[in-house]
Amino acid sequence: MGPQPLRIAVVGSGIGGLTAAIALQAKGFEVEVYDQASELSEIGAGVSVGGNGMIVLDSLGLGQAVRDVSSNLQRIEFHHWRSGDIFYEHPMGDWYDQRFGGPFLGAHRADLHQVLLAGFDGTPHLGRRAAAVHESPDGVEIEFADGTKAEADLVVGADGLRSAVRHHVTGPDEAVFSAMSCFRGLVPVDKVPGGDKFGLTFFLGPNRHLVVYPVRGGELINFVAYVPDPEWTLESWSSKSEPAEAVAAFEGWNDTVTTMLGNVEETGRWALYDREPLRRWSTERVTLLGDAAHPMLPHAGQGSNQAIEDAGALATYLAMESLTPAEALQRYEHLRKARTRKIQMGSRGNAACFQLPDGPATDERNARLVSLPDNVAWIHGYNVFADIQESL
Ligand SMILES: Cc1cc2nc3c(=O)[nH]c(=O)nc-3n(C[C@H](O)[C@H](O)[C@H](O)COP(=O)(O)OP(=O)(O)OC[C@H]3O[C@@H](n4cnc5c(N)ncnc54)[C@H](O)[C@@H]3O)c2cc1C
Repeated sequence: MGPQPLRIAVVGSGIGGLTAAIALQAKGFEVEVYDQASELSEIGAGVSVGGNGMIVLDSLGLGQAVRDVSSNLQRIEFHHWRSGDIFYEHPMGDWYDQRFGGPFLGAHRADLHQVLLAGFDGTPHLGRRAAAVHESPDGVEIEFADGTKAEADLVVGADGLRSAVRHHVTGPDEAVFSAMSCFRGLVPVDKVPGGDKFGLTFFLGPNRHLVVYPVRGGELINFVAYVPDPEWTLESWSSKSEPAEAVAAFEGWNDTVTTMLGNVEETGRWALYDREPLRRWSTERVTLLGDAAHPMLPHAGQGSNQAIEDAGALATYLAMESLTPAEALQRYEHLRKARTRKIQMGSRGNAACFQLPDGPATDERNARLVSLPDNVAWIHGYNVFADIQESL
């Protein structure tokens, strides 16, 4: 009989936590998942999953199920804010798949989450908000806010931007407010002029921009409309705003934008935070993953993808018999830190570039868009498993 498998507790049953739990189970570990939420409801709107995330999901046998509930985006296009005219476009669809080894999908977060929940062999323990983590040479104890406790050999903190597990690893730190927030919503496709033709669609203008794409097989159009606002600081996936506020914020923009913003049933509003990159992610028995490790602004569309890449990397290193668990955590952290830091910083830079006033700087940016497919290849064409092989 071989040694007992490691017992791993994953704190957070979001996109990263569930992907990690599935990947760890596939390697033979015993996994329990804990989440603060009392129920897993359909909160959220669109997330994008690119080739770099799909490589991991395909390796777990989940790729087809994710494709089935998503929209495979056929083109990328950039529109002028006032006229609506396209100033840059490029095919995606098969072209993207062939170049980057997987599709670029628009997914409703709830649909992606459902696929992951179905892929996890077990049920997350809900209503368990991690409050503290106690680590000893023999194991880890998680203390939950409801007074209950859980023990494990290793803990993965996948508990998002305001992670409690991170506090154990790095001590206190502050989220960084971007002074920007976004309106977001889902609109039935027949209520968006030209919505059935949308791929990954940007509308760029002075001080504002929108990212729009279909989800759920094209049934719904997801929009995120970014505005500078130092006053709106509420960071919550469920906070609401009036559709009229979004319409007013985009007054003077083209009809497609204003019609879409006005036709939404419910507008969410979400203040944008990230954090400075962490110096360390791991102790001997505890590590971080996804937004808990590297929360990023959404301007590179990589929040979910980086969490999914983390999950693939963590499970791969932990399964290596030549490494102790502590060594595996160090190797994981080392591999992931530089890449996620670069994407965190790039996401910050993209916002300014998307919101230039009309004029020479905009013309220059637009001329540079011809290199976009090559410029994003290091993100979208990345294969985390190949990188691990090279790192050995
Ligand atoms: C309800 C919800 C809706 C979202 N909607 C969108 C969206 O529409 N568009 C978008 O781009 N991104 C959205 N996100 C964020 C996006 O999913 C993440 O940025 C990205 O997928 C990285 O995943 P993650 O697993 O690191 O974090 P998340 O997917 O955010 O998951 C973190 C999980 O940790 C849990 N958690 C937090 N603190 C604790 C604690 N102390 N103890 C136990 N559990 C804890 C949370 O309940 C959550 O389930 C949403 C996140 C959530 C939680």
